[in-house]
Amino acid sequence: MFESLAEHGQQPRAMVVACADSRVDPGMIFDAGPGELFIVRNIAALVPPYAPDGAYHGTSAALEFGVRVLEVRDLVVLGHGLCGGVRGLLHGVPDTARDFVASWIAIAASVRPLALACDSPEEQQLRGEHEVVKLSLTNLRRFPWIAEREAAGHLTLHGAHFDVRTGLLALLGDNGQFAAAG
Ligand SMILES: [Zn+2]
Repeated sequence: MFESLAEHGQQPRAMVVACADSRVDPGMIFDAGPGELFIVRNIAALVPPYAPDGAYHGTSAALEFGVRVLEVRDLVVLGHGLCGGVRGLLHGVPDTARDFVASWIAIAASVRPLALACDSPEEQQLRGEHEVVKLSLTNLRRFPWIAEREAAGHLTLHGAHFDVRTGLLALLGDNGQFAAAG
């Protein structure tokens, strides 16, 4: 298999933006083997604003390569339950995570009041996880070459949420709600 992948190069059909959380393995969740998914993982599966300014944009660089060079047909933002990044967004990050994590999750600062308006801590956390996926999708659509491909029907964007307690996947529907996958 690896000889074939080396000889023919990678031609992944889909790209996934996922969280770095060790419990959330996109390959396992989507039952995909080597060569099938182009994956970038970061804190809270966040997509930063489109900002081609010469700074060290690791996530945006992966998006550029996956979308423009590999020309993936599907692009999935995969949030998850019990996300520590979302917890930090809602309740503050640990003192030892202030050099980079605090400013990174501030990308999703607009999600905070929406989530904290929910009644229980569990609802706040889940709403925050869902809204972060939606925010990442909104930011993806501000990358001009993603918007162009989506408008032309060459790329489809998806939102998903993986519950690490149950192993169940929920998909974001056109109505803005997450519902259990098939
Ligand atoms: Zn996470």
